[in-house]
Amino acid sequence: MATLVKKFGGSSVSTPENIHNVVDRVLHEKKPEDKIVIVVSAMGDSTDELLDLAQRVTTEMPKREMDVLLATGEQVSIALVAAAFCSKGHPAVSLTGFQAGIRTSDFHTKATITNVFAERVIRELANGKIVIVAGFQGLDQNGDITTLGRGGSDTTAVAIAAGINADYCEIYTDVDGVYSADPRIVAEAQKMQEITFGEMLELARLGAGVMQPRAVEYGEHNGVAIHVRSSFHEELGTIIREEYTVQEKNFVIRGVAHDTNVAKIAVKGVPDQPGIAYKLFSALANANVDVDMIIQSVRDIEGSIDILFTVTKTDLVEATSIVELLKEEMGGFTFDVGINVAKVSIVGAGMLGSPGIAAGMFGALADAKINIAAISTSEISVSCLIKESDVKAAVNAIHTHFFPK
Ligand code: ASP
Ligand code: MG
Repeated sequence: MATLVKKFGGSSVSTPENIHNVVDRVLHEKKPEDKIVIVVSAMGDSTDELLDLAQRVTTEMPKREMDVLLATGEQVSIALVAAAFCSKGHPAVSLTGFQAGIRTSDFHTKATITNVFAERVIRELANGKIVIVAGFQGLDQNGDITTLGRGGSDTTAVAIAAGINADYCEIYTDVDGVYSADPRIVAEAQKMQEITFGEMLELARLGAGVMQPRAVEYGEHNGVAIHVRSSFHEELGTIIREEYTVQEKNFVIRGVAHDTNVAKIAVKGVPDQPGIAYKLFSALANANVDVDMIIQSVRDIEGSIDILFTVTKTDLVEATSIVELLKEEMGGFTFDVGINVAKVSIVGAGMLGSPGIAAGMFGALADAKINIAAISTSEISVSCLIKESDVKAAVNAIHTHFFPK
């Protein structure tokens, strides 16, 4: 007997036929004693359609109301999936995120899960039901509906898996697993059998779209092994876990990630004084703008400095208005904004203690005649900011260097 949480994304439940396919597959794979929770996203592109609808009513949708609106998408799917199970003679029950005990912070549209009170889910499972839970949504301490940020159903699935002590959390998706690079861009990209939480988290943060980073983080903190696999066929995908259990070819680098949701802001000629960086970055932090790369350079003669930093394109409007405000307040500096940028990164826990890895990446970019605008590193990654139009060539050049045939 196994206790499993299976998450199906929007494309898996986009039509009535697809919903029936999901249900057939689950019933086909299910052993009689298995306890199964299914977490679903909103059908197809319906979250985007809801966002668009809001935009057409007002460009200043209050975030609280945005959450009330977006949460409806998943509520549609759970009812239909539960009904499809019932139509095939299998008892099932749908639960909203709040009914399933998902409690979150009150940061609307980007809330984080704080607690899972899984009693209801456990009770329904004990009664022999397949439980269908709405992904992406929860309830904050004020009793308000929240959502978990785009792709948040992954996080719901992992959180429920932790809450009911499931054996595995399976994420069914339109790719076969986690690849050494985006297979749509790199033809030679290789599927991994396993990857550690730490490496997967870094890949996800750096743009690998397979999973929401928070989901991986949640899995790591709660020791939930996550199996990323195809929703089209039954082959095994990639298991994200604490430690490797199989010996895959021993690559120092596990993967190459890229991210085009990046924008840069260059602040030029700020006075070279203590407290300037603090002023700028605390203002951004207070507005919950995530700053990624930061480069500060000195102009020796003028006694002023330039600071270049990157944010997500999604946060650019907010970030720009903060810098603008600061400029009015302090005066004396200029700034410009660039959106034709992207970030390419290499990730691998093995790079710690293997000299020359960063140089190998820079060399691959140099050979491909790609200019680097900024560099940042962590213990297990190196990232370069480049022109957005160079992404495909860059990822391929780096992948070929680290994964020779
Ligand atoms: N429906 C939400 C989205 O499109 C959540 C999810 O799909 O995981 O972002
Ligand atoms: Mg979706």
